[in-house]
Amino acid sequence: MTTLVTGIGELVTNDPALGPGPLGLIPDAAVVVADGAVAWAGPRSAAPGADRRVDLDGRAVVPGFVDSHAHLVFAGDRAGEFAARMSGARYDGGGIGATVAATRAASDGQLRGRLHALVAEMRRQGTTTVEVKSGYGLTAADEARCLRLAAEVTPETTFLGAHVVPAEYAGRRADYLALVTGPMLDACAPHARWVDVFCEPASAHAFDGAEARAVLTAGAARGLDLRVHANQLSAGPGVQLAVELGAASADHCTHLSSADVDALGGAATVATLLPGVEFSTRSPYPDARRLLAAGATVALASDCNPGSCYTSSMAFCIALAVREMGMTPAEALWAATAGGAAALRRTDVGHLGPGARADLAVLDAPSYLHLAYRPGVPLVRALELPGDAPSDTAG
Ligand SMILES: [Zn+2]
Repeated sequence: MTTLVTGIGELVTNDPALGPGPLGLIPDAAVVVADGAVAWAGPRSAAPGADRRVDLDGRAVVPGFVDSHAHLVFAGDRAGEFAARMSGARYDGGGIGATVAATRAASDGQLRGRLHALVAEMRRQGTTTVEVKSGYGLTAADEARCLRLAAEVTPETTFLGAHVVPAEYAGRRADYLALVTGPMLDACAPHARWVDVFCEPASAHAFDGAEARAVLTAGAARGLDLRVHANQLSAGPGVQLAVELGAASADHCTHLSSADVDALGGAATVATLLPGVEFSTRSPYPDARRLLAAGATVALASDCNPGSCYTSSMAFCIALAVREMGMTPAEALWAATAGGAAALRRTDVGHLGPGARADLAVLDAPSYLHLAYRPGVPLVRALELPGDAPSDTAG
């Protein structure tokens, strides 16, 4: 069964071979989908025939968003903590403990219900690939449980036992590190593609450079690929460590030295910016222009989590990146799609060239520019093509 999606007012392919600019823009376009993949993309006037036809009546189509950083397996609610921050309380990661307690107490069914609801919420907003981290269990059994649940919705599962040192290990950091790099890793590695660490020497709850190195090297030895929560609350060793160890992504990158920026420029490590966090913690935004000028590959992700940023909207993150971080609308959209794919080392998503997964996101607008031009408006959704193979976030 092939489907001709036509009447596309503006198509963003992220394939420079198909149209101008890094976005590979095609006006008045069409796409042919076969077996869940893009078989053809180009001007409508040149479109081949297909078994059936979907007309989008001039709407814009972009690649489905690739949200490469999210924490979706949790229980509980921290709206009160948000309210306290907006009244002047400072964010230091300490509230994570509240989510850990609620998550440990929750049943599989409760965790699964929240997880699937969030993934569906993302899909309704155009996100078709999402990475999901553990990190609210912090026992071997609870971390493995969270990763098993995450694997129900995505292949991009990340072991984040090194999120914070849990309360029961207060004063025994070395013991917790031994657990994370030993029995907990053993329990989690079969369910994870990635290992991550909250490297933040400025937080008593998180991990310093030496501890982060131990977590990452242990994970790598078990065959996991690397990602790092780096330089969120202060300048620190996270970015340099991520680049040195060949991590796919250094996430946050809010406080960077010149050496950090230089390290990310031209590195294989993607700089993943999470402006929803700065919005929701009322913090200074990362300097996207400085990273782009240095030649870094920049991704945008939501960091959807119950503490520091509880948005699932990639369109909102794009609007923030444009308004608050000086990115152009084109740079921000690329970062939220192709950039996210690079941060997950995926070549089948984040673009709509031939062979890509047919993850089309459709806008109730004539141009992708409306993503930032109309902030907060629910313009974009994943295009459902009945009968096609489900994508990562289907269901
Ligand atoms: Zn995070």
